[in-house]
Amino acid sequence: MDVTNNLSQINHTMKQACERSNRERTDVNIIAVTKYVSINRTLEAIEAGVTHIGENRLEGALEKWEACQNQAAFHFIGTLQSKKVKHVIDKYDYFHSLDRLSLAKEMQKRCPEGKKIKCFVQVNVSGEDSKEGLSEEELIDFVVSLKNYPAIEVVGLMTMAPFVEDPENTRPFFQRLRYLRDEVRDKNMSHAPCEHLSMGMSNDYSIAVEEGATFVRIGTQLVGNRE
Ligand SMILES: *Cc1c(COP(=O)(O)O)cnc(C)c1O
Repeated sequence: MDVTNNLSQINHTMKQACERSNRERTDVNIIAVTKYVSINRTLEAIEAGVTHIGENRLEGALEKWEACQNQAAFHFIGTLQSKKVKHVIDKYDYFHSLDRLSLAKEMQKRCPEGKKIKCFVQVNVSGEDSKEGLSEEELIDFVVSLKNYPAIEVVGLMTMAPFVEDPENTRPFFQRLRYLRDEVRDKNMSHAPCEHLSMGMSNDYSIAVEEGATFVRIGTQLVGNRE
């Protein structure tokens, strides 16, 4: 496992995906998902040039933040239980799985004075029962309601595509999320600039980039999934 080598391969693949879709490579950010790996591997990723770290569970999230704070931006990418909000709210920079008002309420309550909490609203574009997130039908009303929580800033939408053998089959889900992002963004709500798209993982990130991802979340292909 050589993180530097993995990163340069991923950068190469992303550059090609950007060229195919007429995008600027600098418009896409890589989040290294370190949930399966150690602090040392996380530090290695930062050393290799990674500037965004993603964790999905409280324990790992705190441990990685303690060890690497100030060296990267931190993304909480998993479902966050309301009772755990207080432990990460002042440490993490982005929250990718806002999917209920009760969570927004708790974030508002725990938000440090003057801070804006950058959130992605998670959408279940595939409609699979196993997936978290709002349905497409619920999305707009939900985002509108978030204006009652002034600490929250909706920076974008996030989704997890279904796992499929051929990554090409994820394309319609990414296209759908982009369409929804445009719809929210074009409402010009001051609490919801909604410019970003958090989509694409190890198996499907090049398709996600072609379809407009601005944050891809890559674990296995970048830092591995065990040590
Ligand atoms: C684990 C995880 C990823 C990364 O998955 P890989 O397939 O290892 O790249 C991305 N997003 C979320 C929300 C995750 O939980």
